[in-house]
Amino acid sequence: MAKTIRSLQIRHVDAGSCNGCEQELTALTGPDYDIQQYGLDIVASPRHADVLLVTGPVTDTMARSVERVWDAIPPPRIRMSFGDCAIGCGVFQQAYASHGGLTDSDIAVPGCPPVPDQTLNIIRGWLAKHLRQGTTFLDKDADSAAAT
Ligand code: SF4
Repeated sequence: MAKTIRSLQIRHVDAGSCNGCEQELTALTGPDYDIQQYGLDIVASPRHADVLLVTGPVTDTMARSVERVWDAIPPPRIRMSFGDCAIGCGVFQQAYASHGGLTDSDIAVPGCPPVPDQTLNIIRGWLAKHLRQGTTFLDKDADSAAAT
């Protein structure tokens, strides 16, 4: 059954961040930006999530955890790189334990760290684009399933 995306529940994984990105994520959930008013929220369980949001360059010790959280999110689901480190162009990219960021991102939010206004614009723009096109991320999963 096709679903229209109107909200996104986000599971955050810190994969080696310096915590600068977390500060901005915290600001997003506070009263100034209040992401819940836009149908966005950060949830504790991957079982309740639509989005895997990763901060940091994905270190050796966190790489397996990132993929385990991804596996625990029920489809349809999307991957989001939050910050330059997760995108693969941050200051830790060349560090000895870095995997160079999150692979196969659907949404990338640049910045070191990303500022809340920009983050909201990117996520809401992504939602609006999919609503406008009448497509859903469920369609992408369906396409993937058809191709396999
Ligand atoms: S992008 Fe910047 S703020 Fe975010 S984890 Fe990397 S160094 Fe820290």
